[in-house]
Formats: sequence, C-alpha cells, structure tokens
Amino acid sequence: MIKGLRFLSTLIELKVNSEKTAGSCVACLDHKAINGLCQGCHEDLPVNRWHCQRCALPLAFRSDTLSCGECLSMPPPFSQTIAPWRYQYPVDGMIGRYKYNGQRQYARPLMAGLAEHLSRHFQSSPELKPELIVPAPMHRKRRRQRGFNQAEDIAEQLSLALNVPWSATRIRRLRHARPQRELGREARLHNLRGMFEVYGAVPARIALVDDVVTTGATARMLATALMDAGAEDVQVWALARTPG
Ligand SMILES: [Zn+2]
Ligand SMILES: [Zn+2]
Repeated sequence: MIKGLRFLSTLIELKVNSEKTAGSCVACLDHKAINGLCQGCHEDLPVNRWHCQRCALPLAFRSDTLSCGECLSMPPPFSQTIAPWRYQYPVDGMIGRYKYNGQRQYARPLMAGLAEHLSRHFQSSPELKPELIVPAPMHRKRRRQRGFNQAEDIAEQLSLALNVPWSATRIRRLRHARPQRELGREARLHNLRGMFEVYGAVPARIALVDDVVTTGATARMLATALMDAGAEDVQVWALARTPG
C-alpha cells in the first residue's frame, strides 16, 4: 500500500515537474491553472481572515482592532504583519516542497497572491508603502546547503510586482539559532540576541520579508536591529502565519 502510494506520488511529481504540464494546477493537476493553481484549489487555501493586527496570529473570532495576548503584553517593534494564509494544509506542504526540495512551482501561486494582496493594500493606503524590502537573512552555511534563501526569492518577486527596491546586503545573520519551537518566550528572545548585524544606512520605512512567520521572535529581533540602525517603521510580510 505504502509502496504503491510512493510510486503514485513519484508519478505525480514527474507530471508536475515536466515542462509539458507547466500550466497545470500543482494541487489537483487540473490544466487550467493561473500562477500554478486552479480556481477551485485557490479558493480552498486557508485564508488568514481573522488575525492579530500586529503579528497576524490567527484568531478564532472577528477583530478589527484587537491584538493577540502576546502583542498586548509585549508590543512588537514592527507596526503590522501581512500574511494572507494560515500555515496549515495545503499551504504548509506547498511551502515545504519549495523550501526543502527547491520546487518553486509550489510557491508561485502563494507569491503571486501575496503580491496582489499587497498591491490592493497600498492602493488604499499608499503612505504606508515601504521604501525598501529586506529579506530575512539566512546564515551563509545554511544558504550554501539549501542553494537559495527563499526569503530573497520572495523579496525579489514582490520588489518586481510592487516597484519597491530590495536588498539582501543590509542585514546579516551572524550565527545559527537553536530551533525556536523548543524554547519558551524568554529563551527564544535570548537565543536571538546579537544574531543580526545591519550594514550602512537604512530608509525610514522597511518591509521585512520571510516565507512563514512562526513565533514572531525572529521578526522582533530583525525589526529591532533595523530600528536601531535608523528605520522608523518596519512591517513584516510573509506568505503564511502559523496558528500559534
Ligand atoms: Zn487545482
Ligand atoms: Zn499579535
């Protein structure tokens, strides 16, 4: 049974990756896909509809002004987080295939959706548009292992779509962190202290980009480092936000 499933999934992989089917939906293999997903699968994606206004943490009820408990007790240095989807099925798998297997076609619909979402957002409030997009840095060792930094890839796409410059050389990750999920809040922040270094002057309004916002602790440290270097407003953009 499992052998059969594995064979089937290899077949699907071959089909999805072959040039011939470049126009098919990556989820259901339908042929009428836009940016890699058909309309039905696109509508099935878990939209992060109700969320904390600061960190985008999914909330169980509608709230236009409320922040989550963590943002209320310890307000983050960033002003807002924009993450259109919840990090759950099938978004988690799509991002995983992209990040760990380099299968970019799985992230394409999410990147295009985030770009559209941001375009709409800045049409109604152009004064909030950032002057620079900064991808969350990856330690150079990990970048070498993976071959690319997905945050840079996403930053580049958003830069093209929104006509905002991006730079991967303004901030550097100095060392690895222990996996954040294993740690409590205090330990998480301590784990990240002194982790990042900013180079040169930065503009007043910056967007920090990552694939997923998990605990928000990394975004807090990055935003603090950018604000210490002169930024006045840092917002966070991501494809997805974990439910908690
Ligand atoms: Zn589909
Ligand atoms: Zn929050």
